[in-house]
Amino acid sequence: MLKMQKFFIQTFGCQMNVYDGQRIAAMLEKHGLTQTDNVEDADLIILNTCSVREKATNKVYSALGRIRRAKKDSALFGIVGCVARESGSDAFKRIPELNFVLGPQSYHKLPEIIKNPDTRLLNIDLGGLEKFDELPQMTKTPSVAYIPIQEGCNHCCTYCIVPYTRGRELSRPFKDVMQDTLNAAKTGAIEICFLGQNVNGYKYTDENGKLFKLSDLIRETAKLPEIKRIRFTSSYPTEMSDDLIEMFGIEPKLLPFLNMPVQSGSPRVLKRMNRPDDINAYKTIVNKLKTVRPDIQISSDFIVGFPDETDADFEETLNIARDIKYINSYSFKYSPRPHTAAALMDNQISEQIKSVRLQRLDSQLNENQREFNTSCIGQEMICLLEGPDKTGKHLIFRTPYMQQCIVEKPESEISPMQKIKITDANKASLRGEIIK
Ligand code: SF4
Repeated sequence: MLKMQKFFIQTFGCQMNVYDGQRIAAMLEKHGLTQTDNVEDADLIILNTCSVREKATNKVYSALGRIRRAKKDSALFGIVGCVARESGSDAFKRIPELNFVLGPQSYHKLPEIIKNPDTRLLNIDLGGLEKFDELPQMTKTPSVAYIPIQEGCNHCCTYCIVPYTRGRELSRPFKDVMQDTLNAAKTGAIEICFLGQNVNGYKYTDENGKLFKLSDLIRETAKLPEIKRIRFTSSYPTEMSDDLIEMFGIEPKLLPFLNMPVQSGSPRVLKRMNRPDDINAYKTIVNKLKTVRPDIQISSDFIVGFPDETDADFEETLNIARDIKYINSYSFKYSPRPHTAAALMDNQISEQIKSVRLQRLDSQLNENQREFNTSCIGQEMICLLEGPDKTGKHLIFRTPYMQQCIVEKPESEISPMQKIKITDANKASLRGEIIK
């Protein structure tokens, strides 16, 4: 039987996938394999995939084409994650040499391919939360630990494939999440980022009928001395409950930065997206957050060119981007996804119009970012070390607002949390000096 020694893994997409990629690596290491960055050297090749946009799916298939040509003849390769769930057995038709196709809730079955390399493995079941029980704990955690607290989503936005790829929403048991958090703290984490497609909708009732919410997880996590920063993503506007908003006012370890996607500024488009369409209610939540934490900054995701979006609808999106002064935001052209209602809607918008709108929105978002970054000059912020830059002469830190801050590399070793004075800024990043 083929002796597998090295694995290669490439992760696409969201932070949930980054987490999945880390756990897959830990699981394979437990089975005696070591990770390689060289695909030609690997005995087992895994693409950990994202299907949220059509472009992302196409990217995965082009990467598979390249890997097919570059890999050793004996190497096994396959896909895990959302493209696997979206494609199912069609993936084998597109790339006949593929050895495995495992959905986001079945990647813990990957070791089966090590035991039976001659079989083809297909599993795209929505099995719930069992994978978490079968994955080994990490023995070393990066300074930022991503901890999933729920999987799937019940909101059914009409453009989104997630309810199909990740299934109905399930919250993990409170004690399991805290176990992972504690383990992350003991093995190197300084920042905890709680993850979920609808993270602020986290609700778990234990065997005694006690209800736990995201605010409870934050409160408990803040008690761990190793953990200095806490954040969570991605939030659904109407799940921003008062207890969670209050946490921003009382828990200093909770960063003053929140991703709360609005997607569009037009109530008419939001209704067709099956999203909360009361823009005033959205603004009220932002105001409440600013009342308890005046320095908070909000980021958003945007979709432009949703079916039937008019120029007037798009102007409303520009208006909200301007009003809220979002920072660190993501904007995309709408792309129809299989298994979604919006893909079947009339009045799909041309690519040309989508491109023009995206450009206009991006220029507004860039202006917001530049303005905010410039306003930081002269401030002192406690930042978390991310690592050296490509030249090795500088260190990159993350501010509490997730901006990149570049500083001269000191001669001696420093601890990962540093107070930094911001000395310069542009749209993309900040420059600073460590305060001794
Ligand atoms: S809330 Fe987010 S994950 Fe859920 S359906 Fe809407 S876009 Fe998709």
